[in-house]
Amino acid sequence: EQTSREDRRFKQSSKLRDVLYDIRGPVLEHAQRMESEGHRILKLNIGNPAPFGFEAPDEILVDMIRNLPNSQGYSDSRGILSARTAVSQYYQTRGIRTIGVDDIYLGNGVSELITLSLNALLNDGDEVLIPAPDYPLWTASVSLAGGTPVHYLTVEEEGWMPDLEDMAAKISPRTKGIVLINPNNPTGAVYPKHVIEDILELARRHNLIVFSDEIYEKILYEDAVHYNTAALADDVLTLTFSGLSKAYRVCGFRAGWMAISGPRQRAADYIEGINMLTNMRLCANVPGQNAIQTALGGYQSINDLILPGGRLLEQRNLAYQLLNEIPGVSVQQAKGAMYLFPRLDPEVYPIKDDEKFALDLLKQQKLLVTHGTGFNWIAPDHFRLVTLPAKQDLRDAIGRIAEFLEVLRA
Ligand code: PLP
Repeated sequence: EQTSREDRRFKQSSKLRDVLYDIRGPVLEHAQRMESEGHRILKLNIGNPAPFGFEAPDEILVDMIRNLPNSQGYSDSRGILSARTAVSQYYQTRGIRTIGVDDIYLGNGVSELITLSLNALLNDGDEVLIPAPDYPLWTASVSLAGGTPVHYLTVEEEGWMPDLEDMAAKISPRTKGIVLINPNNPTGAVYPKHVIEDILELARRHNLIVFSDEIYEKILYEDAVHYNTAALADDVLTLTFSGLSKAYRVCGFRAGWMAISGPRQRAADYIEGINMLTNMRLCANVPGQNAIQTALGGYQSINDLILPGGRLLEQRNLAYQLLNEIPGVSVQQAKGAMYLFPRLDPEVYPIKDDEKFALDLLKQQKLLVTHGTGFNWIAPDHFRLVTLPAKQDLRDAIGRIAEFLEVLRA
C-alpha cells in the first residue's frame, strides 16, 4: 500500500523503543515551561555543582585558558598524551599498575564513553547486570546498544549494598558484564573492599567484564574509603570510568576518561571495536582535555568541601536530618557523592505513580526532584534530591516537601 508524501511521518527509530532517561524527562520539561512563565523553581534534580556556587579551582581555569590557542585542532582520538599520562599516573598511585597511556580513552564526559563501550560490545539480547537503583544512563545505553539491562537489587536497610545472591542468580549464558556505580548515584553508597572482591569473584567465575563507574570517587564523607575496582584484581577485565565533572566541578567541560585493565589479550577484538568507535567520533572536546593534567596533579580542592566544616558535608548532614524528621520519610545517610534517596513509607503515602508525585510536587511547591523509578528503582516509593543547594535553600526545599507530604497524609 502506497502512502502519499503528505501522510508520511517521521518517527523515532525502533532502537529507542526501550530507552528511558527520566532525569531530563517530562517533569523537567514541565519545570522549564513554568520557568518560562515566570515562576522561580528550586531545582534539586541534577548533579551539576557550578550553578550552586561551587566554582572550579582557579588553576584549572587558568590553565585551560592558556591552552585555548593550542586547542583548536582535533587531538589524537584517544586524547592528548599529557592528559592520558596524568590519568595513568593517577591510577598507579591508586595501586593499579597495569593501566598504560594506550589503555586510556578520553571522552566528552563519562557519558560518551559509557555509550561507546556498550555499543562496541553488545549484540541483540546480550545482558548486562546493572544496579537498581542506578544512574539511568547505564540502563538506557545498554538498551540503545541492543542489549538487555538486567537489574540486580541493592538493599536499603544494609546501606544500599548490592545483593550478591540476587546478582549471582541473574547471571545467564547471555550475560556480558556487571556495572558497579561506586560511590553510587542515587543512593550515596560506598562499597567496602569485600563487597567489590565478591563481585570480582563472580565476574572471574563467569568470565564477565566489570564496568566500574567511579566518577564520585573523591566525594567521600567521614570515614568512607573508596577502593578502585581495578586495583583489587588484575585478572578480571575492568573498564574504569571517571572524570572531572563532579570532584572538580566542571561538568560543562565534558572531560571524562575510561581505562581498560586486566586480561586485555582476551578482549583484543572488543578493544578493536572500542578503537573504531573512538576514531569515528574523532576526539573529545580538546579544551576540556587540557584541564585533566592540572586537575589530577594540582591541589585537591574537593577536600575543602567534604572535610569537617566543608559545604558538601554540612549540606548532606542537614538534608539527612531534616528529611528523617518528616513523618513517614526515612533516608540512609550518603557515604559519598552528592545525593540522598529518601523512602516514602507506602503505608503512609500510598503513591502509585512516582513520576506524577514529582510532577505534583513541582506544580504545588515549585520544587524539582527526580522520582525513584527514573533510576530504575523497583517501586514508586523513593525520590532523589541533590545536596548541592546552600543550607538555607535546602531548608526551604525540604520544608516544601514536608508541607506537600502533610497534605498527602491528610
Ligand atoms: N556516571 C554517574 C554515576 C553520574 O552520576 C554521572 C552524572 O551525573 C555521569 C556518569 C556522567 O558524567 P559526565 O559529566 O562525565 O558525563
